[in-house]
Amino acid sequence: MPLAPFLPRPSSLLPLTLLSLGLVAFGAEAQPSLSVQPGTAKPGDPILITVRGVDGQPSGTVAGRTLRFFEAAGAWQALTGLPVEQAVGSAAVKVEGPRQRDGSAVNLVGTLDVVDPGYPERQLQVAGKYIKPPQSVKTRMAEDRAAFAAAFSQDFGPLRFERNFAWPRQDRITAPFGDRRSFNGKLQSQHFGTDIDGDTGDTIYAANDGEVVMSRDCYSSGNTVIIHHGAGLYTTYFHMSRIDVKPGTKVKQGQKLGLVGKTGRVTGPHLHWGVKVDGLWVDGLSLLKLDFFGTPEPRVATATPDTAQPAPALTGGELSAPVSTSTTP
Ligand SMILES: [Zn+2]
Repeated sequence: MPLAPFLPRPSSLLPLTLLSLGLVAFGAEAQPSLSVQPGTAKPGDPILITVRGVDGQPSGTVAGRTLRFFEAAGAWQALTGLPVEQAVGSAAVKVEGPRQRDGSAVNLVGTLDVVDPGYPERQLQVAGKYIKPPQSVKTRMAEDRAAFAAAFSQDFGPLRFERNFAWPRQDRITAPFGDRRSFNGKLQSQHFGTDIDGDTGDTIYAANDGEVVMSRDCYSSGNTVIIHHGAGLYTTYFHMSRIDVKPGTKVKQGQKLGLVGKTGRVTGPHLHWGVKVDGLWVDGLSLLKLDFFGTPEPRVATATPDTAQPAPALTGGELSAPVSTSTTP
């Protein structure tokens, strides 16, 4: 459900009660409205903007980032994120709609509260070869980065799913999103995903419907699958021991993608689950809380776990990729 409704700035002659009376169905103009999820965000959160009651495609910004709107379920929506560097405090949400049939301008404004994420810092000691990889490894990592960039360049398109997101597997979280890592005393990377524990051979499921846009053996992220869910929203699955899908495969939520493994630069088997939207890595746990459809739904599916709040812990995990900022596993 929309969590933070904002009213339009210009006055409208239509009272709010028209909405609840259902007069929209008889052709009356709905009052333009804006909702922002989540109501309170932290740096690194995905942001879902929903605009209703406007005559055409709106435009707007969140914290200065330009929004790209798409049509969804009788409304206009846009997806973006707050960068992990976003300042704590408030962020402006501004939406402008096309002039209404009655000639009135539509300017919807709101303020998003941005709270301290409290991302923990981990000190890791690693061998020098991981800090300064040899040329052969650098070449391979550059190829991987190019493959990631190509995968993340899909046609924008509408949303390709009809339900909210679900966990790709159910287990303990061993490293949360945002965990800051310093190697040998120097801060070098941030953890842009959620590590979910598992044993080699455990099943990994698609978190939602979409199209597989990459399946590749990468140096740092190991066997990697990327799914595009439409509108520039992607989920990524790292370190798999086996991949059961190919680029171009259309997957449904809960469909098996492959198996948990420890491929790539890791210390043990787990699933690193990543989410990218509008070019930003964002927190998958926050994506799971977004309601795209305005209706509560039972979170039960044949193959999709429904873990409520696994206790974050800082054990196990991977060695990360201190020389790569774009594909940090
Ligand atoms: Zn990870």
